Amino acid sequence: MNIIFIAPPAAGKGTQSEMLCNKYNMKHISTGDLIRETINNDSPLSEQLKDIMNQGKLVSDEFILELIKNNLKDGDYIFDGFPRNVKQAKMFDELLKTLNKKVDYVIYLKVPKDLATKRILGRLSCPNCGHVYNDQIDELMPKQVGICDTCNVELTRRNDDNIETFNKRFDTYIKETEPLLDYYQDKLYEVDSSKDKQEIFEEIEGIINDYN
Ligand code: ADP
Repeated sequence: MNIIFIAPPAAGKGTQSEMLCNKYNMKHISTGDLIRETINNDSPLSEQLKDIMNQGKLVSDEFILELIKNNLKDGDYIFDGFPRNVKQAKMFDELLKTLNKKVDYVIYLKVPKDLATKRILGRLSCPNCGHVYNDQIDELMPKQVGICDTCNVELTRRNDDNIETFNKRFDTYIKETEPLLDYYQDKLYEVDSSKDKQEIFEEIEGIINDYN
């Protein structure tokens, strides 16, 4: 089973991916995380990638497809943040065909912009385990201010989680990513992502239940 999440920034696709991976035997590919890893590994492309991310734009489709190819192995996958436009979706379909794989479910996490803004500005994540917290939302706060509950290390804030970049990311999402809702209409499921994370998770489980 392969699942794609389509969602505006901060709709909770990373959180839901983590919950699904923990409960089901699935692997998680986040193109955002892979790009951040490339940047942190001081690749010759680091500066260019950082600039694009901080401008809220998309990095090149060819680069993203290479990341996907290099990370896709056997098994069931959750794709978080990919595909991000129709060209990537078409390239992905070609790739999946050669691997005898297919996309089974496309989950659209719908969230109003004002809530997404609140989530993004308070977002903190653990550099060690990747768990996401939020210092503006009660149910998502770490037990100790700024520290991961599990790893006991200091939480970090993403460079692109500021209001200017967020607004640009949101515009990019509307222009480039929302057309995918049409592209995937025959396997699309909409979930209200303004609910709490457990409720959203149960709704997603209901959708994919016929597999388990
Ligand atoms: P969010 O969905 O909250 O914006 P992500 O971590 O998914 O966060 O993405 C962060 C940034 O990484 C994007 O704004 C974009 O610059 C880049 N990015 C991630 N995935 C893709 C992709 N599939 N294609 C192009 N750029 C991407």
